[in-house]
Amino acid sequence: MKHAGNYNKNSWGFHPSKSSTEKQLPSVLVLGAGIAGVVAARILHDTGFDVTVLEARTRLGGRIWTIDDFGVPVDMGASWIHGTKGNPLTRWCESLGIRLKRFPAKMPYFFERGQGIGFFRIARKAHRGLTKFILQYFRLLLRCNSPTRSLRNTDYSISDIFDPLIHDLSLPALDRRMILWLRSLQEAINGAPANEIGMSELEIPNLFSLNAVPFTGFARLIEDAVLGLNVILNCEVEKVLWKGGKVKVLTSKGIFKADAVIVTFPVGVLRSRRLIFEPPLPEEKIRTIESIPYGDNAVLDKVAIRYGSPLCPANWEQFARLPELKNDSTLFTLWTNMHSVTGMPVYVGYFAGTNGAYIDCNYREESILNEAMEKLKNMLNQDLPDVLSWKVTRWLSDPWTLGSYSFESTESTELDRIELSRPVAKKLYFAGEATHPEHYGTVHGALLSGQEAAVALHRHHCCDHFSSPAAPWMR
Ligand SMILES: Cc1cc2nc3c(=O)[nH]c(=O)nc-3n(C[C@H](O)[C@H](O)[C@H](O)COP(=O)(O)OP(=O)(O)OC[C@H]3O[C@@H](n4cnc5c(N)ncnc54)[C@H](O)[C@@H]3O)c2cc1C
Repeated sequence: MKHAGNYNKNSWGFHPSKSSTEKQLPSVLVLGAGIAGVVAARILHDTGFDVTVLEARTRLGGRIWTIDDFGVPVDMGASWIHGTKGNPLTRWCESLGIRLKRFPAKMPYFFERGQGIGFFRIARKAHRGLTKFILQYFRLLLRCNSPTRSLRNTDYSISDIFDPLIHDLSLPALDRRMILWLRSLQEAINGAPANEIGMSELEIPNLFSLNAVPFTGFARLIEDAVLGLNVILNCEVEKVLWKGGKVKVLTSKGIFKADAVIVTFPVGVLRSRRLIFEPPLPEEKIRTIESIPYGDNAVLDKVAIRYGSPLCPANWEQFARLPELKNDSTLFTLWTNMHSVTGMPVYVGYFAGTNGAYIDCNYREESILNEAMEKLKNMLNQDLPDVLSWKVTRWLSDPWTLGSYSFESTESTELDRIELSRPVAKKLYFAGEATHPEHYGTVHGALLSGQEAAVALHRHHCCDHFSSPAAPWMR
């Protein structure tokens, strides 16, 4: 699939123009057409490298997956720009004229047996539990500030904060359910089980951080990045032979050769036996791949449903239910109402954590839809209108993802991610969300990692005169 566009008008390369470099630049294979891959590929292509992108799916974008089945764009993978200020995605959207919507503009609306209650009212009612929660957070934070811990990791998981309070029978049931809801929110945000999520991931002021969504969905950025690139879809990479002269990549569509490759696969894929490096990667790299926390027993998944008529006012942009004190706390306790973004009654429900992982791997898609609708019906205490279209994700069973994204555990540190991104023999470069030491698990982190891999490859194989590409977010 060759995307020919007017890319020359808008070069992203390191040099003002290709003619400014007289060297014959090496050939590069970029493995994976997610945001990290297409960003790295576009920068190197516009600098004069001979670049080909190999992608297993029949579509671009990886964990960016904007569907148009509903007649409006809906993101089934990433949907939010996390923190618009200083974010490269904000500048990129601006350069393309994509409008952003601060979303959600308000705290979620809670439903208890069909009765709507605002977040602050329910938080006031649950004030004893929430006060204890804040105290518990700071108590553990003080204890884990020990000099033996390095960089981000902490001695405690978020379970150490939440679980004693959820089981504290001296607290009213409502307070405990509120704490359970907050815990389930953290499991969804991290796509991981609470007992594995490091306490550093819970930043109380950021619990409801300001996010924005692009009205076009994220796919518009991918479309912009691939202009002019040679992308081969439906091409599964099976083996990477990297000793000797050129790197040989064995795929479902034959053998490709290049001077260097950039690997952007998710950690789940790097760990799987489906992908072989020959000779094996250095021991330190293998250890890092094995140890970076990446939910393989938990997940973040979505069900998107377009109804024939609205379920609630468009300005209730998120609505939630407090889970009962039993085991379904991570299933459809939060819904996003996309009406104000899409202009249509489209609702996105989340299933996450270990229960979500079970459903992802064992349920049929219709059963997942039914489970979601049953929960929604009980929550709103009303019959639901006709479903016009729906879509379910299964990021854990998806062979090209095998999980949602990486997170920070009690054991991991920034050093693991730095090690993961380190090039091998000036031939194998690594990018992807999990390689970014600070912004892992996000689109902008993956973008920056793609840019950094391109910088490293450019330095090794061309020159180090220009270490910032002319990509739209750098202008
Ligand atoms: C449900 C969900 C919600 C999210 N929400 C947000 C959000 O709101 N905001 C945010 O910033 N981030 C969010 N993220 C995270 C964000 O989507 C990712 O961090 C980012 O898109 C990762 O990009 P990447 O290029 O590193 O990896 P990917 O997008 O996974 O790209 C890797 C590519 O490699 C391909 N591939 C894998 N194996 C092979 C193989 N053997 N051969 C060939 N190709 C292969 C894959 O198909 C894929 O296209 C979310 C993720 C999920 C799953």
